[in-house]
Amino acid sequence: MAEPQPSSAAFDRFAIIGIGLIGSSIAHAMRKFALARHVVLYDKAEAVRLEAAQLRLGDEIAPDIATAVREADCVIACVPVGACGAVAEEIAPYLKPAAIVSDVGSVKGAVLRAMQEKLPAHARLVPAHPVAGTENSGPASGFASLFVNRWCILTPPDGANPEAVACIRAFWEAMGANVEIMSAEHHDLVLAVTSHLPHLIAYNIVGTADDLESVTQSEVIKFSAGGFRDFTRIAASDPTMWRDVFLHNKEAVLEVLARFNEDLSALARAIRWGEGDKLFDLFSRTRAIRRGIVSQGQETAEPDFGRRKA
Ligand code: NAP
Repeated sequence: MAEPQPSSAAFDRFAIIGIGLIGSSIAHAMRKFALARHVVLYDKAEAVRLEAAQLRLGDEIAPDIATAVREADCVIACVPVGACGAVAEEIAPYLKPAAIVSDVGSVKGAVLRAMQEKLPAHARLVPAHPVAGTENSGPASGFASLFVNRWCILTPPDGANPEAVACIRAFWEAMGANVEIMSAEHHDLVLAVTSHLPHLIAYNIVGTADDLESVTQSEVIKFSAGGFRDFTRIAASDPTMWRDVFLHNKEAVLEVLARFNEDLSALARAIRWGEGDKLFDLFSRTRAIRRGIVSQGQETAEPDFGRRKA
């Protein structure tokens, strides 16, 4: 895919609330592609604000949320899903008329409801979820190319302002993302399957291996290349972020988890009764899915996931 090109500044003043992996990556990308005349960042943790200042993220690190938000054309909440409602409440009195408000939360239904309830009627809300990330967090973990050739899903509420939606779409596209629009409910079901359930499984597998007394810790680490290691990368994801994801996408996660448990029981039965054909058919189907993901540029085809450089 072609590198996204720097554009003329789309925003005059742009505020990023929450300076973690996603907030800092947006700050890097906005500078690289010149997406705003002035980018101001704010995080509730003073240590994070200091680190962001040392890293020279954006044009200004605000000492409080009011300073960050006042006069901003667009405010984007890059905080854990459970904090989005509180951020909306805090920014509400300081928003400039018709300011665009967005977020990057991995759950959309609960975030949309929480933010809509707290924002003033004049604010133009366009929730977003960049389907891109790493297992790292904090202001030093961000990088400008995080969103390149990754999907960003927008879930505008009924009656959302079309200009604001177009503006947020152009913003993500300028950072290299491919944008798709869907309802918050549909987003939450799709992501429960593609992201939330895999994380739950990884947390569970790594937790089980850690608990098994018959296998020592050192053996788990020594022989981890047998599959376990790839689960540990996912299971190293931020505990706050993922706690919030499961608490706020409860229904969809429990629905796909029930289906997963049924399928797992069927697999156990196939193993118990020696039904090799069933196992072979499933493993062939899943191998084709992996190849499809690689061919669509969403993963590397390098041996060992590109981990080992020849
Ligand atoms: P992160 O690295 O943990 O950063 C979040 C930052 O927000 C932290 O510094 C946190 O401070 C701060 N914060 C929390 N509540 C706040 C508040 N009320 N006001 C101001 N700052 C506040 O998290 P992240 O990975 O960037 O994730 C941020 C959002 O992006 C989440 O909603 C997540 O679901 C979504 N997302 C993440 C990924 C991923 O792979 N990481 C991918 C796509 C979307 P404290 O640490 O002091 O609480």
